[in-house]
Amino acid sequence: MKIGVLAMQGAFREHGKALESCGCGPVEVRKAEHLEGLAGLILPGGESTAIGKLLVDFGLLDKIQALGRKGFPIFGTCAGLILLAKDIVGSNQPRLGLMDITAKRNAYGRQVDSFEIDLPVPEIGDNPIRAVFIRAPYIEKVGPEVKVLASFQEKVILARQGNLLAAAFHPELTEDFRLHKYFVNMCHDYIHS
Ligand code: GLN
Repeated sequence: MKIGVLAMQGAFREHGKALESCGCGPVEVRKAEHLEGLAGLILPGGESTAIGKLLVDFGLLDKIQALGRKGFPIFGTCAGLILLAKDIVGSNQPRLGLMDITAKRNAYGRQVDSFEIDLPVPEIGDNPIRAVFIRAPYIEKVGPEVKVLASFQEKVILARQGNLLAAAFHPELTEDFRLHKYFVNMCHDYIHS
């Protein structure tokens, strides 16, 4: 099964390694034609304004949007979560806007640039996952179709809306790839539906 990783900017290589550990062939996506034949797509962390602009410049924004609306699985991590959000607090930057969430960028302040926590995610197992936050957003508001999978300090940081999965942290930076496996299962369901 081939799963794409948007490779415009940011932490895309680590996602490729995580997918390989899950037995999938990662495909770096830089042009529209790279989307063909994929079972899903990961939007990595990085700088959401830069990635959004590149998506527009490379003609990928509309293509990914159309796929996402038709049930194609997309997993956004950190900046990727911001790109998936319908609303971004105080910003009109380019985005896919597929998920009914309001994202707040750099939500933990400049002082707390990065930190790690053990995060319980009942949906993927009994043991918590290690969540690495780097100038992370959180989800300020979720719509009725959105399922909250994990919160931290009463803010939603992991959520799913059907074929869309969004994490405020960087699951690719640990050796625990259960969240990637969860996404791979979503992709598996998609191509077998
Ligand atoms: N602060 C970045 C943004 O707003 C996201 C940080 C990250 O992806 N690690 O785009």
